[in-house]
Amino acid sequence: MYHNIGVPPVGARLRNLYVRAGAFSRQMFMLRLLGYKGLSMSAAMPYLRGEKRGRVAVITFDDGYVDTLEQALPILQKHGFSATCYVISQRTGQYNDWDAASLNVRKSLMNDEQVRAWQAAGMEVGAHSRTHPRLTGCTDAELQDEIAGSKTDLEKLLGQPVTQFCYPYGDLDARVVAATRQAGFEAATTVQRGRARAGDNAMLLRRVLVSGSTFPHLFIFKLLGNYEDKRG
Ligand SMILES: [Zn+2]
Repeated sequence: MYHNIGVPPVGARLRNLYVRAGAFSRQMFMLRLLGYKGLSMSAAMPYLRGEKRGRVAVITFDDGYVDTLEQALPILQKHGFSATCYVISQRTGQYNDWDAASLNVRKSLMNDEQVRAWQAAGMEVGAHSRTHPRLTGCTDAELQDEIAGSKTDLEKLLGQPVTQFCYPYGDLDARVVAATRQAGFEAATTVQRGRARAGDNAMLLRRVLVSGSTFPHLFIFKLLGNYEDKRG
């Protein structure tokens, strides 16, 4: 789970959400060196369903920042990897209005054309709601609008099925999960720490956060051992 690739702007809080391009590049190199295939969520589904076996690392980016396209994409392509970027369907071309104040930084989100470019480059677009609300606080009608609505918006934009979802803030309960399944998503990711395994509930997939302070030895621990699973 990545958020921003690049150098944290001066004054930004939660600077850890930024992974420098050089570090990201070394991490992708390390994945390849260790025999992992870096895949999008959809490409990894056969592994999660237990139909295929192999060393697979799903690479995800939350929110759809411009730096995902400009910084991460060329590095992913260099290694022959794919990845999933979760886009907020009614915030494209805008900025992180849900946390700009608390983070003290306005971060540019990909516009429609950039979201299409990400897909055209062989990468996957997943949905991350329409406006990035806390879903557990939504009424049933709002849930429907935010979850099913984001799928409709993105499918219209891309002309392709959008089958992957990511809960904003990792905020979820049984009602949110039911609405996500009902909207027709095949899988959804959380911010619960741990590695996803074949046979896991596809609507509650755990992830491993890679942050600006994930130094190389820690990256390898997170990847190969049960470091994350124990902290989940
Ligand atoms: Zn988010």
